[in-house]
Amino acid sequence: MRFAARFLILYGSQRGQAQSIAEEICQQAAEHGFTADISCLSNQHKYNVDREIRPVVFVVSTTGDGDPPDTAHKFVRKIKNKSLVHDHFSHLRYALLALGDTNYANFCNGGKTIDSRLQQLGAKHFYATGHADDGTGLEVVVDPWIEGLWDALKKIFSSMSSSNQQSADLSDCTQDNYHKNASGQEKNKSGLEVDLQLLKLSEVDSQKGKTITSDSSDVETLSTALVASLKQSVPPLSESVLNVPALPASYLEVCLEQVSTEGETVPSDKDGYREVSISKAVQLTQDDAVKNAILLELDISEQSIAYQPGDAFDILCPNRASEVEELLLRLDLQTQKNCAVQVNLLKNSTAKVPLHIPQSGSLQFILTWCLEIRSAPKKAFVRALADFTQNGSEKRRLLELCSKEGSADYNSFVRDTNVCLLDLLRAFPSCLPPLSLLFEHLPKLQPRAYSAASSSLQHPGKVHFVFNVVEFPACPEHPARTGLCTGWLADHVSSILRPLGTVPASEHLGTSSQPKVHVRPRPSSTFHLPADPSIPVVMVGPGTGVAPFIGFLQQREKEREANQEATFGETWLFFGCRHKDKDFLFRYELERFEHNGTLSHLIVCFSRDEPDAAGTVNTPTYVQHNLRLHAKNVASILLKNKGSLYVCGDAKNMAKDVNDTLLEIIGNELQIDKLDAMKIVAGLREEKRYLQDIWS
Ligand code: FAD
Repeated sequence: MRFAARFLILYGSQRGQAQSIAEEICQQAAEHGFTADISCLSNQHKYNVDREIRPVVFVVSTTGDGDPPDTAHKFVRKIKNKSLVHDHFSHLRYALLALGDTNYANFCNGGKTIDSRLQQLGAKHFYATGHADDGTGLEVVVDPWIEGLWDALKKIFSSMSSSNQQSADLSDCTQDNYHKNASGQEKNKSGLEVDLQLLKLSEVDSQKGKTITSDSSDVETLSTALVASLKQSVPPLSESVLNVPALPASYLEVCLEQVSTEGETVPSDKDGYREVSISKAVQLTQDDAVKNAILLELDISEQSIAYQPGDAFDILCPNRASEVEELLLRLDLQTQKNCAVQVNLLKNSTAKVPLHIPQSGSLQFILTWCLEIRSAPKKAFVRALADFTQNGSEKRRLLELCSKEGSADYNSFVRDTNVCLLDLLRAFPSCLPPLSLLFEHLPKLQPRAYSAASSSLQHPGKVHFVFNVVEFPACPEHPARTGLCTGWLADHVSSILRPLGTVPASEHLGTSSQPKVHVRPRPSSTFHLPADPSIPVVMVGPGTGVAPFIGFLQQREKEREANQEATFGETWLFFGCRHKDKDFLFRYELERFEHNGTLSHLIVCFSRDEPDAAGTVNTPTYVQHNLRLHAKNVASILLKNKGSLYVCGDAKNMAKDVNDTLLEIIGNELQIDKLDAMKIVAGLREEKRYLQDIWS
C-alpha cells in the first residue's frame, strides 16, 4: 500500500508564506503516516493535475488586487483554458488552503479563483477549503485546518482503497472537526474561530444533495458534495431519459462437465511459445525510485531461439489467482472450477466460438490463461450485464454507464480508471451474469511484449529485457494493484531478485529452481542497426525505452572489437529519467560504452532532480529538450549524413514530443514551414531512417 498514503502538495507563494505552510504540511505528513510530494505551482514539469490520482493539497496566497501569486499565473491560465471540458478534473480529489488579508479587497481571491475553477471542471473536495486571514493572524485558521487535514486524508485514502465504499460521502471529511457555536460562528474543537467556508461541506444534506444555506454564492461549491461515482449518478444524468445501446444477441452456450481437469496449470507449447528459465532478475532502480524497473535474463540456450537487438519477445502471463478465485466465488462457480468447459454456438447463431477459448479446458484454466479479466468492460458488455442485475437502482446505474447520456461517466469511472469486470461485480452486488456472457464479452488475454535489451554476441544463449512494474494506485473504483504482466513477473522472480551490483544467488542454484516463463520471439522487420556500421545513428530512449539501445550498443561494442579497422559512424544516445541516483537505468554500462567509444555522445537529463548548485534555470528536463540543444548535430546526421533516428518508449507523450521537436529542428535548419518539415519527416520514415518502437 506504498501508494495508498501518498499525496501531493502544490503551493503558490508570493512572499514565501504559502511555501512555508506547504513545507510545514509536508513535514508533518510523515508524523501522520503519509508521504507527501511537494512542488511549487510554477514547476509544471514536476506534476500533472490533468492525470493526478493522489489527493492534492493546494496552499495558495493572494497578491495585488486579489490576484493569484506570480508563481501560480501559468497554472491559473492553464486551468482557465476555455477548451477544457466540464469534467476535465473529475478525477481530482483536493483540499485548498487560501491565504489572504481582510484589510484588502477580494479576500483570499488567489485561492478562490483556483478553487472555483477546479470545481467547475469537476474536481471534488475531500476537505473543506480554509481561508486564512493575515489581518488577524494566519495561524488562527491555518493550524486547525492542518490539524483536521490528517483525518480528512485518512478518510479519503480509506474510501479510495475500500471498493465497498466507492460512493463515499466526501462531505463527511469535515464533520468531525468543526461545530457551530451559539452565535452561529464556526469553532473548531479547540474553540478557535474559523472561517465560515470551512463548514460548507458539512452543511450539506448529503442524502438529498441540498444545501441548507440560502446564500446563492455558496450553492456552486456545495452542490458538488453529492458526487457522482461508479455506483451513483447525480443530476442531470440521474434524471435523464437514457439512450442505451441495443442488447447484444447471446450466441454461446456453455456447459460444465464433471471431469476432473486438475493439474492443468500452464498453457501447452502451442503458438510458438517455449518455456524457458529466468536465470537472473536484477532490480535496476533504488527502493525510493518512483518506478520499480527490473531486468530479467532468460536462458534460451536450449531452445535455439535466435534474435537481433531491436526484436522483442512476447511473454505469456496469467490472471492473478486471487482475482480468478474471487470471480469464481462471485459467480457461485467455485466448486466447479475443475470442470471441463464445453462451449457451443446457440442454434441459429451465425457467430463463431472465440478461438481463444479451448474446448475441454477447465474453467479455472480458461479464466486464468485465456480471458483478459482485467480489461475495462466495453459498453456493450455493461449493457448486457444490466440485464442480469436484480436491484433496480444498480440496473439503472449500469444502463446509465453504457448510455449516450452517461458517456462522460463511463469514461471517468470505467475506462480511465481501468475498472474491470470484478470491480463492477463488487460495485453492483445484485449483478449475476451467466458464464456464457463472460465468454462472449471478455477479450483474449494477450501476451505482453518486451524489447530485447541485450545482444547475443555479448550474452550467448541469453536474452535480457527490462520493465517497469506498472502500478495502479487505489481509487474509489478499485483497490491498488499492479499491471497484469509486470506485477506477475515481479512476484514470480521475487525469490531470485537482487539489487544491482550484488552477487547473483541464482547462479548457485540449479536451473530446476529457477522460475520459468513462456516466451515467443517477436521479430521486428525494421528496428535494427543499419547494416552499414559507418552510418551515424541517433537513439532516443528515456526510461525503459533505452532497452533496445543497450542491445544495439552491446552489438556495436563486439563488432568494434572484432573489426578494429572498420569505420563506425557516430552514435548518439538521448536518455532521460527522474533522478540521476535513483532510476538511471544501465548507468554504468552506458558510461562504459561512452568511455570506450562505442557511444560517441551520451546525453542525459533528469526530470525531477533540482537544478544544479549554480541554479541553472533551463536545465533540460526531457529528452526533447536535449534534442533541441543538439539540434545542429541531429539535423546534420539526418539531413546531410544519411543517418537514422530511433525512438523507443512511451507512445503517449514522449514519442509525440520528440516528433514535434524533430519537426521544429528540421524546420529551423532548412528554414521551411511546418508542412514542409512534415514532408521531410514523412520521407525519413519511408526510407526507414526514422524508426519508432513505442508502447503505451
Ligand atoms: P496492464 O495490466 O496491461 O496495464 C497496462 C495498462 O495500463 C494500459 O492500458 C496502459 O494504458 C496503462 N499503463 C501502462 N503503463 C502505465 C503506467 N506506468 N502507469 C499507469 N498506467 C499505465 N514495456 C516495458 O516495460 N519494457 C519494454 O521493453 C517493452 N517493450 C515493448 C515492446 C513492444 C513491441 C510493445 C508492443 C510493448 C512493449 N512494452 C514494454 C509494454 C509492455 O508490453 C506492457 O504493455 C507493459 O509492461 C504493461 O503490461 P502489464 O500487463 O503489466 O500492464
